[in-house]
Amino acid sequence: MFQPTDRSGPASDPDAEARRTLLALCWPEGRKSCPRCGAGAPYQLAGGRLRCGGCRYTFHDFTGRWLNEAGLSPRQWIALARAFAREATAREAAAELGIAYNTAYKALTVLRLALLAQEPDAPQLLAPGAPLAPLAPGGDGTLAPRGADLPVYGILTGPAEVFVDLLPELTAASVLHFMRNFRLGVARHGGVIITDRYKSYDALILCADETLPWNEPPRRRDVVYAESGACPFWDFARPRLRRFKGLSCLRFPLYMKELALRFNMRGADLLPVALTALCAPTPHFAPSPAGASTPEQREQEREHDADDQTGDDGKGEGEATPADEDIAGQTEQRKTRQTKTSKQRSRGRRVRQDEQQSHERHAQAKENQSAPQSSHAPIPPSTD
Ligand SMILES: [Zn+2]
Repeated sequence: MFQPTDRSGPASDPDAEARRTLLALCWPEGRKSCPRCGAGAPYQLAGGRLRCGGCRYTFHDFTGRWLNEAGLSPRQWIALARAFAREATAREAAAELGIAYNTAYKALTVLRLALLAQEPDAPQLLAPGAPLAPLAPGGDGTLAPRGADLPVYGILTGPAEVFVDLLPELTAASVLHFMRNFRLGVARHGGVIITDRYKSYDALILCADETLPWNEPPRRRDVVYAESGACPFWDFARPRLRRFKGLSCLRFPLYMKELALRFNMRGADLLPVALTALCAPTPHFAPSPAGASTPEQREQEREHDADDQTGDDGKGEGEATPADEDIAGQTEQRKTRQTKTSKQRSRGRRVRQDEQQSHERHAQAKENQSAPQSSHAPIPPSTD
């Protein structure tokens, strides 16, 4: 599948063969260019390095690419990608490649990030201030959100694919609020909280940390929609999530996006996709409003929301009041507005029919004025 473009090396050398395979993916047209200024025809220096004739930048074949992030040789990268394609754990991959567990773990993180970077909504997750920014190459110092500020994702089943979307207008605090005041059903598995249906999503899902004020109600025994057999993706993802060692809130979206990719590609070979992703340049995303998720930015957003409506603190906490219903209604309106912007941008692949259904559901939800849509009867408040 990966035909080397340069066959000058000895074909029997597996290291050289692996290098040629990856080079062909890095430079598919066979012409190298400067990763800094884009100028072509760099000249060759000793030791395989290259120098740009334009900006004088010295680089090598894999500079600025995901491949350059974990210190693996081309042959090790290919072996790692192969292990990943068949769902080997970091421990299994480490044993297979004869490398340290930490090295394998780091390289698998790089591979997951590389795959995520190919998705249309990558900027929402990787740009400065976004949930995965702390893991992005050259980390911008973004702090991972915690507690009530933890990000929330929606699982959406389209006609052909499933999507795990960051919902920047929601946080863990919103889910607690919906749960307490609108009786949105939830199930909890360790740190993972999955809710009943919410608007066009099969479920909202988040990974809670120890600082999330999860004090009421205690654990409910709801059967949420996604766990009633209605969401094949969750049936696929749930047992796999358990296999990820050290599932942290920070890495949670990385694993969820990986599982969505695996689900959408089940039956197909992930190896070519993984290698292509690894050979791509690491992206540099500008901070995007849609991906803004630092507590400060969200606080500003809340304040802005509060300005839009009278007599509400905009915090989404406390007893249910008509103002709370306004919040949910307003969230709905914001979502509907966003449908035409971030949705189209981040879900370019989603088919029109699904959009139409989503619009219809949004319209219907709007008519119902506020509460998150639950497919189950209201549950009496817990007395614990
Ligand atoms: Zn240059």
